[in-house]
Amino acid sequence: MAILSIAGVSRSFGGVQALQGCSLDVEEGSVAGLIGPNGSGKTTLFNVVTGYVRADAGRVLFRDEDITGQRPNQVFARGIGRTFQLTRIFERLTVVENMLVATQRSEGWLRGLTRSKSSVAEVDTALELLEFVGIAGLAELHAGALSYGQRKLLELAYVLVADPQVILLDEPAGGVNPTLINRIAEKIRALNGQGKTFLIVEHNMEFVMSVCDRVTVMHQGCNLVSGTPEEVRNDSRVLDAYLGGGDDELEEVAGG
Ligand code: ADP
Ligand code: MG
Repeated sequence: MAILSIAGVSRSFGGVQALQGCSLDVEEGSVAGLIGPNGSGKTTLFNVVTGYVRADAGRVLFRDEDITGQRPNQVFARGIGRTFQLTRIFERLTVVENMLVATQRSEGWLRGLTRSKSSVAEVDTALELLEFVGIAGLAELHAGALSYGQRKLLELAYVLVADPQVILLDEPAGGVNPTLINRIAEKIRALNGQGKTFLIVEHNMEFVMSVCDRVTVMHQGCNLVSGTPEEVRNDSRVLDAYLGGGDDELEEVAGG
């Protein structure tokens, strides 16, 4: 059964048709991959699902309920968490304070950004999640001092605060060193083992092949091909799509 169903979603920005009738079903309990050349609409699709961008047409269903057009906080509080291609953390807050912002967001409103407004239980939960992703030792540092890979881990912990059923990750391995990439992959598998569903945009094909059950390839705002990672990798239409775009990520996809 599809936990997340995207049906015929379109969106244009001025003259650019970022999404055109894009449809995608994500099965409950799966780790779904989303790949495609730069500019094919992957991030826009995430933005539509999570309420950051309005769709011109089409529907988004979460557990068969229509959530099209809901605001980001509503979508987050409902149980769809996401990370961003470029991390969005509050650099001047500490790591644990960033987590407390997430706690408040998951309740749908902000009480204020300081620790004193949070309960002991909320701080404990925040620290547990930081422990889970392996950065509890950095809790009191300003988030601005974290490395790029550590920021990605903080974002993952942030998303987990709302205990989401579906987690959308936008390029979790992009710009991250191999050790942290492995840790991120390991955490995704562990969370999937607990029943969480994932939809992951990623260019690193080794990562996609190692964590995803199914992969969908986007091209010019549409779903081009879906299949197992192996099927998609050997599909000539996929290579054509990357070649046609003159994309510099072709080598990663073709060569792994
Ligand atoms: P991907 O994530 O697959 O690289 P995007 O979804 O970011 O692709 O972008 C798809 C297309 O939509 C691109 O041509 C991009 O320039 C355009 N686009 C995305 N967001 C905006 C925006 N806010 N304003 C204008 N154009 C946008
Ligand atoms: Mg993108």
